[in-house]
Order: sequence, then C-alpha cells, then structure tokens
Amino acid sequence: MNVLLVYLLHKIGDVSAFSTNVDCRFVENSVLFFNPSDVVSCKQTHSDVIKIVDDSMRGTEIADCDALVTNVRKLPLLIRTADCVPVVLYDPCRRVVANIHAGRVGAQKLIVRKTLQLMMTQFGSKTSDIIAAIGPHICGKCYEVDDACASEFGEKYIIGYSSNQKPLVDIALACKEQLVDVGVDSKNIHCSDICTAESKEWPSWRRDKCQERLGTFVMLE
Ligand SMILES: [Zn+2]
Repeated sequence: MNVLLVYLLHKIGDVSAFSTNVDCRFVENSVLFFNPSDVVSCKQTHSDVIKIVDDSMRGTEIADCDALVTNVRKLPLLIRTADCVPVVLYDPCRRVVANIHAGRVGAQKLIVRKTLQLMMTQFGSKTSDIIAAIGPHICGKCYEVDDACASEFGEKYIIGYSSNQKPLVDIALACKEQLVDVGVDSKNIHCSDICTAESKEWPSWRRDKCQERLGTFVMLE
C-alpha cells in the first residue's frame, strides 16, 4: 500500500498568530514533515460543520467549521485544541483522512460520527477500514461539568463525581463510542492517555485559560 498516514502533535503558540497562512515558527521540538504554507486550518466554532478540502484550498483557513476531510495527498490539515478532543480518522483503502475538533458542544452534536458518515457517503469509506487516533485531551477525572451538561452526554459517560459533587465526564469515550456505535472496531481506535489538564507540557484551557493550542496535523503521504 502506497499510502502513509502521518500523525503528529505539536504544541503551537499564540492562537492569534494564526491567520490565513499558518505561521509554524511556533511549532516546537520537531522537524516539520510538511510545508507550513500548505496547511489548511479552520476557524473552529464548536459546530458540527464538516468541510471537504481540495487542492484549491491549500494554505487557507476555512471559515466556521470543526472538521476537515481530504483525499488529496500532501495536504496537511490542522485542528487546534486545548482540552477538547482532537480526533483523526484514516481510511487506508479509500485514501481519505479527517481531522476533527470535538469539544463539549461538538461531541454532543455527534461531529465525530457525522464526519465518518461523510467519509462513507462522499468517498465510499467502510467502517471496517477506519483507523482512528484520539489525541491528548482533558481526561474524565479532570473534566468536571454541571448536571445539565452531564445529562446531555448521558449516564454512560459520567465516570464519577468531583469533591464538590459535580459530575465527571469522559468526553473522549463519548467520541470513541460515536465510532464504535456505527461499526468501527474498537481495536482500531487509538486513544492518547495524556491528560492536557494534568500535563503541564500541553495547553489546557481549564488549567491556564491559555492562548496556546495543541496543534494536530494530519496529512496523506
Ligand atoms: Zn486529567
């Protein structure tokens, strides 16, 4: 198979520094595997809007969407997070890749499942071929929410209660289940055990109210 998924996580700098062309001066500790001027990013709005990216969008920032899908080679897709869940979907058979921002709202709007469904309808992907990667995110033990939010996720994802009796929700599990429920093999879903709120190396909105973001880049080789 001549398709290779490249999946890499970087800590990137001030989010305001990113405009139409991603400024990768802020990428640390790595040799870039892509040309920074090629990166396609999006103005994330906690929506369930998914965009198919083609070659004409190379180097642009797409307005108002939270998931990017492409079958174009050498076209890096960027999603930015700080506690939210970055989810990459890869179909090695149809040669399609997706990069998803799944925060609380997006997860509740089922953006992960909807992205997979779009890959199926637009590119002919099959759930049995899908490989998923869930990047660093806030873990269930740290993700304290109010009762309304917890019930919107559902009992299944409440893993306990904090010391001040607030529900603790496993948001990554909710994302994973959106894939498993439609037939993705859980063995093909790889989930990072890094908690952004606990690990000072990664940006955490809850911990720091930071301007930094974790950048998840994905590209078909
Ligand atoms: Zn944690």
